[in-house]
Amino acid sequence: MRYSIVSLLRQSARGHRNWTQAWRSPEPKPAYDVVLVGAGHGLATAYYLAKEHGIRNIAVLEKRWLGSGNIGRNTTIIRSNYMLPGNGPFYEWSLKLWEGLEQDFNFNAMVSQRGVLNLFHSDAQRDAAARRGNFMRIQGIDAELLDRHGVRDMAPYLDFDNARFPIQGGLLQRRGGTVRHDAVAWGYARGADSRGVDIIQNCEVTGIRIVDGRVEGVETTKGFIACKKLGLAAAGNSSEVAAMAGIRLPIESHVLQAFVSEGLKPYLDTVITFGAGHFYCSQSDKGGLVFGGDLDGYNSYARRGNLPMVEHVIEAGVAMIPGLSRVKALRAWGGIMDMSMDGSPIIDKTHIDNLYLNCGWCYGGFKATPASGWCFAWTIARDEPHRLNADFRLDRFRRGDMIDEKGQGATPNLH
Ligand SMILES: Cc1cc2nc3c(=O)[nH]c(=O)nc-3n(C[C@H](O)[C@H](O)[C@H](O)COP(=O)(O)OP(=O)(O)OC[C@H]3O[C@@H](n4cnc5c(N)ncnc54)[C@H](O)[C@@H]3O)c2cc1C
Repeated sequence: MRYSIVSLLRQSARGHRNWTQAWRSPEPKPAYDVVLVGAGHGLATAYYLAKEHGIRNIAVLEKRWLGSGNIGRNTTIIRSNYMLPGNGPFYEWSLKLWEGLEQDFNFNAMVSQRGVLNLFHSDAQRDAAARRGNFMRIQGIDAELLDRHGVRDMAPYLDFDNARFPIQGGLLQRRGGTVRHDAVAWGYARGADSRGVDIIQNCEVTGIRIVDGRVEGVETTKGFIACKKLGLAAAGNSSEVAAMAGIRLPIESHVLQAFVSEGLKPYLDTVITFGAGHFYCSQSDKGGLVFGGDLDGYNSYARRGNLPMVEHVIEAGVAMIPGLSRVKALRAWGGIMDMSMDGSPIIDKTHIDNLYLNCGWCYGGFKATPASGWCFAWTIARDEPHRLNADFRLDRFRRGDMIDEKGQGATPNLH
């Protein structure tokens, strides 16, 4: 069923009793052309494989429920304010896909280009922001450098004058913003399902069967499933899943927390990040402030964090917006991040002919969902990377060809 004003009027006249299911819940078939592990970027990949490359005999295997991974656990920020050549064009392509996504997959994902404002607090930070903005503009990406007055006009509630970290200005990307995260999973799922993709929930991959150097299929909690090509997009579990094929990844798994406050009247109409600590905040349409900060800093597969990081994040938040001290935090949760050694992702073929890899998203992979799915689909369908993901090769770590946007070196929990 196509969602439109006409279908909405028709259904409301009938008491909303005839909406069809957004996607099926099929049992797995014995064999597929492509099997994708993980219903996050895996859903987007399945969607673009079917839509762009005409491959429809696909299964997405998800060990929990659809959207239960990081795709439904993030702070919903999208942007393309990247500087390095490998990253800039890729994230800009993702932003362009976001801009047309709702029409493309016929689902309201609440894409909101409300702007992303990164504050700076010192001369050195201003120079770095100006440099980043210039790099962005050279690549055709929008960027504006605001002075202190420009920031004050946009966000008068920030602590400008008495702060330990006086705000000198900010780098603004107006086309950045937020997207409702779980609606992205639902939209891609519905779009893929309508093109014949089987989305199989509660189906954990427990082994990869390899014979004569080729993947024959996967062992799962629902039995063996054969496939001609296998794509792994398992985020924080990437190391575990790749190990089933004997591959040791340059990835560490870390927990990152997110927080939501009680509902407030609308006042924060953009995304703001603190430059003197790690804090980012937006306001959801329901009124809650959605915010987060640093990783907890230790390796973990537990999807909840610890109190010291709660304190650290809220401290940074209050330093940026003093009024936050009177707001109650309602909820917090954690997700397991696949932190790569240079902070950039991997979208590549592996040395095993029909095995493909999508991981290393650190904590920026939500905004990448469309481009990641699009490029991974290309790589799987054509057996070679697209030029947009040509730099995200696995062997760059062996070659020493890092894409270290932050300049932190090989310390994954700092990216
Ligand atoms: C708190 C938090 C805040 C974030 N904020 C932002 C943000 O504001 N902006 C941004 O761009 N990014 C953000 N991110 C990062 C972003 O959410 C992730 O990088 C992105 O969603 C990763 O997508 P994915 O498809 O790789 O992972 P996921 O959505 O986690 O998908 C992987 C799936 O694989 C499944 N899986 C794992 N092992 C198996 C197995 N053996 N068998 C079957 N299934 C398996 C998992 O259950 C999971 O559902 C944030 C993340 C967190 C946790």
